[in-house]
Amino acid sequence: MKIEDHELLPCPFCGGEAKMLRAAFENEEIAAKYANCVGIRCTKCLVSTIPLSEEDAVKLWNTRALVISVDLAKDK
Ligand SMILES: [Zn+2]
Repeated sequence: MKIEDHELLPCPFCGGEAKMLRAAFENEEIAAKYANCVGIRCTKCLVSTIPLSEEDAVKLWNTRALVISVDLAKDK
């Protein structure tokens, strides 16, 4: 699967467009450790995932917390 083929949800914080990026490190040892890892970053607010495999990064980015809405005014 090509890096552009993943469907990424908009940023959960600002709604910005998400981009998948290859992780880049100056330290060679660290670069080798994360050679097959990517990060997903919002192009607007720059929030990003930790470096992960493509599949895990997409899963992490696209996972949204369940929001439960409670109507507090109901009992008043
Ligand atoms: Zn954002």
